[in-house]
Amino acid sequence: MKKHNFSAGPCILPQEVFEKSAQAILNFNNSGLSILEISHRSKDFVAVMDEARELVLELLDLKGKGYQALFLQGGASLEFLMIPYNLMKENGKAAYLDSGTWASGAIKQAKSFGETVVVASSKDENYSYIPKNYEIPSDADYFHCTSNNTIFGTQIKSFPQTDIPVVCDMSSDIFSRVLDFSKFDIIYAGAQKNMGPAGTTLVVVKEEILGKSGRTIPNMLDYQQHIAKESMYNTPPVFAVYTSLLTLQWLKNLGGVPAIEKLNNEKAALLYNEIDRNPLFKGVAATEDRSNMNVTFVLNNPEHQETFDKMWKEANISGINGHRSVGGYRASIYNAMPIESIQVLVDVMKKLEENV
Ligand code: PMP
Repeated sequence: MKKHNFSAGPCILPQEVFEKSAQAILNFNNSGLSILEISHRSKDFVAVMDEARELVLELLDLKGKGYQALFLQGGASLEFLMIPYNLMKENGKAAYLDSGTWASGAIKQAKSFGETVVVASSKDENYSYIPKNYEIPSDADYFHCTSNNTIFGTQIKSFPQTDIPVVCDMSSDIFSRVLDFSKFDIIYAGAQKNMGPAGTTLVVVKEEILGKSGRTIPNMLDYQQHIAKESMYNTPPVFAVYTSLLTLQWLKNLGGVPAIEKLNNEKAALLYNEIDRNPLFKGVAATEDRSNMNVTFVLNNPEHQETFDKMWKEANISGINGHRSVGGYRASIYNAMPIESIQVLVDVMKKLEENV
């Protein structure tokens, strides 16, 4: 029986995507061949790559605005390195917001390239809030932030104003809410939350900001090379890109980002309302910064843990243990998570209250 999967990533994808991608492994486009055995240069796969790149720009409302979408490899973690390589000038500097473990991972990589200013950090309170009211140096080559902190369950609701290029790691909330995406110069995201299986990284880049760092960039790390080769500089992760395309098509058919945002708000409200109502539970993240994707919460009394763990397992729930650096529970409720599954978790929380 299919479980209610609250895993933080890789995570749930739409059921129809699982079915269609499984079918493509057996017989892709009625070609008599598996998607796993065809050339990435075949007409059928080039069409997949082209449509996926187009659809990303369409869903983010970035078509015709000077952006390119790339499907790369190396995870969001390689982007931590590619960003400074491509944007930080020799003797230049970069500004970073430290809002969590992944943000600080990005900072660490930038530091190996040059001066890296941390404009603000919420490390003092184990990243349970989003820093605000900080200054971004106007002479920095770019500003980097993380829109959603997967581990801590915080999300930037209002992005800072700045005239320098803005780079955002949207790994865990891309395509989940409407933003003015044209305010960002680079958006990147590992596929394995809202887009597809692990194995590809989406990079959306405003072309005009590239080619200004003065650095000699190795080809595989150079966004301009990937753009020139239409995201096929080397063999792309064919299956991950195809499955991402299926998820993007699913999202488009559903009504795109505005439609999913509405559902995501309803889903998050259902769970947060129960966390706030139920005297046995408490949310971890500052209320105004709560993520609509990763809901972190703890039991007020650790003695209830054994009973609660037994109950959610019996309810066929999977993947809600919190990250080791936060403890407690984390329910990841990405785009593909049906509200019915969240209701199952809420019912278990209510039942625990009745039972203890
Ligand atoms: N950034 C964020 C916000 C993440 O959640 C993750 C992974 N969970 C990463 C970066 C690292 O991604 P990857 O494992 O694809 O390198």
